Amino acid sequence: MSGSEEGHAAEERPPRRWGSRCEDCVHVRAITSGKGSTFLLCRLGAEDPGWPKYPPQPVVHCPRFECYVPPR
Ligand code: SF4
Repeated sequence: MSGSEEGHAAEERPPRRWGSRCEDCVHVRAITSGKGSTFLLCRLGAEDPGWPKYPPQPVVHCPRFECYVPPR
């Protein structure tokens, strides 16, 4: 199941709206609510209770940032 979740997450790239470091990070996933609002979820927060699942936006600097490279 985690494999399919990761594949799904890779497709959920956020729109470039916040000017946030998260928009270019491999760990982000865009979540759209039923009301149409979009939130940036940091997947590290799901594994690490000491890390925010929904970091306040925009994130300007993050020590755990890893650059997302789109598949070719
Ligand atoms: S690791 Fe940092 S930059 Fe990447 S999604 Fe999480 S909070 Fe954003």
